[in-house]
Amino acid sequence: MKYNVVHRGDEISVRTKDRFHELAVRYGMTLDEQCPDIVVSIGGDGTMLQAFHQYVDRLQSTSFVGIHTGHLGFYADWNPDEVESLVRHMAEDPDALSRTVKYPLVDICITTTRGKEHHVALNEFTLKGVEGTLVAELRINDQRFEMFRGDGICISTPSGSTAYNRSLNGAILHPSLEAIQIAEMASINNRVYRTLGSSIVLPKHHHCDIIPKPGHTILLTLDHLSVQLSDLISIRSTVAEQKVSFARFRPFPFWNRVRDAFIGDIVE
Ligand code: NAP
Repeated sequence: MKYNVVHRGDEISVRTKDRFHELAVRYGMTLDEQCPDIVVSIGGDGTMLQAFHQYVDRLQSTSFVGIHTGHLGFYADWNPDEVESLVRHMAEDPDALSRTVKYPLVDICITTTRGKEHHVALNEFTLKGVEGTLVAELRINDQRFEMFRGDGICISTPSGSTAYNRSLNGAILHPSLEAIQIAEMASINNRVYRTLGSSIVLPKHHHCDIIPKPGHTILLTLDHLSVQLSDLISIRSTVAEQKVSFARFRPFPFWNRVRDAFIGDIVE
């Protein structure tokens, strides 16, 4: 099996990476930075976002697995003490890569005065005004839905629903749902301006266009990446055709991860 490691660079992640490489040699795995079958992310969920974007052009043939070197992550659910067990699963189980879970992504088509570009995000993309309030029209399936005024708009994937979306009081979605969620950031609501005020979930065959007021500079974030655009015309978002594959060498149900990350021990 061909593998590569992406790590956070802190002391414990570097140590875990070195140990992983040692064991990989011992178990006959091949390091391949260009075309890995599997990418091991060592760090946190943020490290998995970096690994995902590094290999975003190979989603058809690369799976991901995460080791957390801090707190339990949503994408990083192995701990450093389990590295040998993980390497053994990877090297010795011939069906290892057929047992993956596939999570939906959000596809965005950015139209600027320079043309169109497509990108996918694992967690979410957000739009914010740089000089102040974001003013943008929201259209759903080509019908005008609302005029948004506020700090920004966040459109997340189901697996990203536990990240930024959760801080915006969006719902947590199970990643088996092929959907995207639109959440508002501090919308202005009064007698003059009105937005829905709650987050909404769109199914796979729907799309949402965001058309910012012309002449404003917009901050676009895509997971951990960001760019300022002064010539943005619109952004269309849909559930992406591609999915991301996570190798599952053992069960760890999503709702258990939600409970362990956000609730912890239950006191009777
Ligand atoms: P960061 O600001 O250094 O870390 C953001 C936090 O979000 C980290 O604790 C990270 O976990 C956690 N996280 C990332 N993906 C998650 C997921 N799917 N479910 C639950 N928690 C998740 O930024 P970063 O590490 O570069 O990550 C970028 C992400 O930060 C964005 O995609 C966005 O979701 C999130 N973010 C959240 C807010 C907010 O909640 N107000 C604001 C900006 C950005 P680890 O510690 O395990 O890496």
